[in-house]
Amino acid sequence: MAQFDKILIANRGEIALRVIRAAREMGIKTVAVHSTADVDAMHVRMADESVCIGPNAGTDSYLSIPAIIAACEITGAQAVHPGYGFLSENATFVQALEDHEITFIGPSAAHIRMMGDKITAKDTADKLGIPCVPGSEGGVPDIETARKVAADMGYPVIIKATAGGGGRGMKVAESEAEIDMAFSTARSEAKSAFGNDEVYMEKYLQKPRHIEVQVFGDGQGGGVHLAERDCSLQRRHQKVFEEAPGPSISPKEREKIGTVCANAVAEMGYSGAGTIEFLYEDGEFYFIEMNTRLQVEHPVTEAIFGVDLVREQILVAEGNKLSFAQSDLEVNGHAIEVRLNAERLPNFTPNPGKITQYHAPGGLGVRMDSALYDGYSIPPYYDSLIGKLIVHGRDRPEALARLSRALGELIIDGIETTVPLFDALLAEPDVQSGNYNIHWLERWLDENMG
Ligand code: ADP
Repeated sequence: MAQFDKILIANRGEIALRVIRAAREMGIKTVAVHSTADVDAMHVRMADESVCIGPNAGTDSYLSIPAIIAACEITGAQAVHPGYGFLSENATFVQALEDHEITFIGPSAAHIRMMGDKITAKDTADKLGIPCVPGSEGGVPDIETARKVAADMGYPVIIKATAGGGGRGMKVAESEAEIDMAFSTARSEAKSAFGNDEVYMEKYLQKPRHIEVQVFGDGQGGGVHLAERDCSLQRRHQKVFEEAPGPSISPKEREKIGTVCANAVAEMGYSGAGTIEFLYEDGEFYFIEMNTRLQVEHPVTEAIFGVDLVREQILVAEGNKLSFAQSDLEVNGHAIEVRLNAERLPNFTPNPGKITQYHAPGGLGVRMDSALYDGYSIPPYYDSLIGKLIVHGRDRPEALARLSRALGELIIDGIETTVPLFDALLAEPDVQSGNYNIHWLERWLDENMG
């Protein structure tokens, strides 16, 4: 067991701050890395040290494995926290760190590889007793097989990239007339986005909710679950509004699916934070994938359990056992997160620029995770997430009222953001009652912003 003195954060923006904060509370020194565009970024200011690792483009900086390893060696950082996105699920990176005797704060390269290939992931889940979406056995090599699988399964079907992520490389075929087109488009999208054109097929569920279970393993046979998040409000398969616990999940269902997931993590010998994602329809859970990293929406889980997931990641990476047992974890109240993007409505066009005024909301049960400050210029090179507003209340109505109040206090001037979207959503009876599935937001956007 090695206690870290210094860790490097291979990321930027709010998640880099999130990790720096946890490290500082643990008495660990921090190293920020940054591109030339990010020289004035908040994570650079907040860390104890910083290293410029390359030019503006993410591919030349935050995704550069040699540059990050060199930064560790120059600064003497013993471990790397990858945040989410960038290199967080890159097994080659984890292997390279290992070769340089630097600890990766996350699971093993083998677990990342296993879950990064969605066919292997599904197969593994199935063997671990996790319920899966009915679908093809492994990859679908050609159009004849695709037609046959679809006919056996019944339409509609969804064709998905084996190497997929971020909602790309997915195509739905409603009927036989659409299968040829859907198959070839999914394949070529998969090829261009991931350099791998292998696809597989699943039954397309018509009205599911997206429910994901937060898990944690200590790599030593221990595993727990931290209940679920409902992330059904999505635009282009990307989450915009997340809550915990899921408004449609009963305590009995939570316990049941949570236990299946915790046992799976323990059996795999999984180490660190992970999320097991499901579609949920008519009382049944269907596994879609496992994310082997901390997720954007992790704060809603932290709010209802009162735990620091990043601290726990660091402790586990140091070789400690988990600091909590399943019996210590009890759901307390309700939490909601909204993702604030620098985007112009109604088309969600990226809208980077200079922040002329910034004021974060505060008060009881309000958390604002953001790297913005007065006078900061948002560079145009990275994704448009500029902050996450998280609220916690004793129950869902209190959390909703608090969210509305906190959005009212927030000031972000100089650019346009997605804040008006949330003001409008909070006025919707379906959002107020938690009555939505993964298609609800797209339909609402068509009707209200189309
Ligand atoms: P990615 O890794 O690209 O995010 P996922 O497999 O997690 O892909 O799926 C992302 C989203 O796509 C899900 O949250 C859901 O909205 C939709 N989706 C995926 N599989 C199905 C399915 N079988 N039926 C209906 N919708 C699906």
